Amino acid sequence: MTENIQSRLKLVKERIETAALACGRDPRTIKLVAVSKTVPVDLVQAAIKAGVTILGENYVQEVRDKIEALSAEKVSWHFIGHLQSNKAKYAVQLFDLIHSVDSLKLAKELNKRAGIIGKVQKILIQVNISGEATKSGIETEQALELVRRIAPFENLAVCGLMTMPPYFNAPDKVRPYFRALKDLSDIIRKEAIANVDMTELSMGMTGDFEVAIQQGATLVRIGTAIFGERV
Ligand SMILES: *Cc1c(COP(=O)(O)O)cnc(C)c1O
Repeated sequence: MTENIQSRLKLVKERIETAALACGRDPRTIKLVAVSKTVPVDLVQAAIKAGVTILGENYVQEVRDKIEALSAEKVSWHFIGHLQSNKAKYAVQLFDLIHSVDSLKLAKELNKRAGIIGKVQKILIQVNISGEATKSGIETEQALELVRRIAPFENLAVCGLMTMPPYFNAPDKVRPYFRALKDLSDIIRKEAIANVDMTELSMGMTGDFEVAIQQGATLVRIGTAIFGERV
């Protein structure tokens, strides 16, 4: 399994590089977030050995023990799942980047909790770019207003946007959603809001990361292609 992870990771990195070069992008501008939700510690460790430097997790509860077990490793942990305000206290302790801020209420709580531990918490705004009722994320039309309101929070730093498009078998069908997120980030950037950075675009998973890269992704969140199917 360990060797498996090594070769899978190599393949994923090659695919990222190929996709980047094919659309004239520098592959170094795309960061791989290895999504290790539900993956046991020994396999995560194998991935780190094989060169993974950023890990993405969805469940605060599950990850506390995992991060503790791997505390000697020099890796960065990102939170990519739905975050409840009552977990904000732990999230600011554990994560370098939170991809999934989608409400003022959550932002306020994160700001407060980051302030208590003297941290400026980097965050992304999760946008429900497809408008599906079942999806997390702020509505596209309300995203700019949310960014404006979060901008003055001293213990938060907005670094960009994140989205989860609808699921399709054909990756090309998600292209319009990725393009829409990129367009939205350009619109917000033009507003030149103080304390707001629109550098990062977190989009693309195992099934569609190449398309996401073509549309400007800077963070691709990949689980299955590295760790295999989740049980
Ligand atoms: C699980 C998950 C991923 C990774 O999905 P794969 O299809 O396994 O690559 C990416 N982003 C989020 C938010 C996830 O929950």
